[in-house]
Amino acid sequence: MPDHAATAGSRTLRVCALYPDLMNIYADRGNLLVLERRCAWRGLGFELHASGLGERLDGDAHELFYIGGGQDRDQRLCAQDLLATKRAGLQRAAERDAIVLGVCGGYQLLGHSYSLGGEEIEGVGLLDVRTVREDAPRLIGNVAIEVSLDGAQGSPRVLAGFENHGGRTALGEHQQPLGRVLRGEGNDGRSGAEGARTANTIGTYLHGPLLPKNVWFADWLIARALGISPERLAPLDDRLERDTHASARRAAGV
Ligand code: GLN
Repeated sequence: MPDHAATAGSRTLRVCALYPDLMNIYADRGNLLVLERRCAWRGLGFELHASGLGERLDGDAHELFYIGGGQDRDQRLCAQDLLATKRAGLQRAAERDAIVLGVCGGYQLLGHSYSLGGEEIEGVGLLDVRTVREDAPRLIGNVAIEVSLDGAQGSPRVLAGFENHGGRTALGEHQQPLGRVLRGEGNDGRSGAEGARTANTIGTYLHGPLLPKNVWFADWLIARALGISPERLAPLDDRLERDTHASARRAAGV
C-alpha cells in the first residue's frame, strides 16, 4: 500500500498569488481554485496569500508562487513593483526550490525583459528568456504541448490549453523549454518550443484554465511543492476532469 501522505492532513500547501487583481485576465483564479480543491479533497491544508503592489515578498513563507497573465499596461506596473519589492523574495523562493509558476504575462516577467515599441520592461530574470512584441499578429488559439516532468506518471504527457500573446519569447542558449509544441504557436510560433523551466521555476503561455484542463499537472505542482512524489497523493475521482482534458486536447487537435 502506498503511503498516501496527502490523506494524513499533516501538510499544508501555502500559495502566494502575485497581483491577483492585476495579473488575472484569463481566469487565473481558476488555477488557484483547482489547487485549493485538490488539496481540500485530500485533507491537505491550503493557505492562499495575495501579494499586491508595494508588498514585500517573503520567499520562505510559501511553497508555491503564482503570477498570471496581464495586459501590457498592468504588466508594466507590476514589473516595476516586482523589481522593487519582490525580486529578492522570488529569488529566495527559487533557491529553496519552491514552485514559481508564471503564466503568459507572468511568464514574460520571470524572464529578463519584455520589449515593446522601443521600451524595455525589465523582468526578474529567473528564467533565461527574452520577450519581444513584434509588429506581427498576436499568437492566439488552442495549443497542446508535450512535456516530460520528473516524477509525473506516464511521462511524457500532454498539456492542453489556450494561448493569446503578442510577445514572442526566445530562450537563452541553455534554457530548457517547458515542452514541445504539438499544436499551436508556443513561445514564438516558429521554434517548436513552449514555455521555459529551470528546476521548479516554470513559465508557460498556456493560460486561463491551465490547471482545470490539466489536473495531472496541478497534482504534479502540489506534490512537488510539498516535496513528495505525485503518486503519494491520494487518487481522486477525476472523471469530469479527464473529460475536460480530453475536450481541450480535441480543441487543439491532438
Ligand atoms: N501582454 C502580454 C502579451 O500580449 C501577455 C498577454 C497575456 O498575459 N495574455 O504578450
